[in-house]
Amino acid sequence: MPLYDVDCPKCGLVEDMYVPLKDHRSATCGSCESKVKVLIRPVLTAGPLPSKPLKLGGADITLTSSSQLREYKKKNPKAMFLNKNDKVWKDHYDEVRNKVEASAKKRGFRDRQAEKEYKKKQKGLKQPTIKKSSKVA
Ligand SMILES: [Zn+2]
Repeated sequence: MPLYDVDCPKCGLVEDMYVPLKDHRSATCGSCESKVKVLIRPVLTAGPLPSKPLKLGGADITLTSSSQLREYKKKNPKAMFLNKNDKVWKDHYDEVRNKVEASAKKRGFRDRQAEKEYKKKQKGLKQPTIKKSSKVA
């Protein structure tokens, strides 16, 4: 049975649950019963491949075969393979963002975005665009 991540826009509950395909549009939150969003994540079935390498963002390592991945897991039993939709990653991301926001406020800005815009104006430079990728940490 495939498990999907569901995300409740109302109460913020994020969890894995089994949702039959026909119910993807009508699944409800187990906590507040409002409609949830079913997040479909790519599942690593036959990976990594030379054409589809797995980049370990946190470690700056690129794996190109499943034997490399097995080897890496063996050498690093504590390594976590997280998707950007995983709760652990989201929590970590929120924690970091809160710190960043707090330090921006300390420096007298409304928020981090305001600080960025201020600095951008000061420099008169174009901000580099951040490429979104599905890196695993
Ligand atoms: Zn809910």
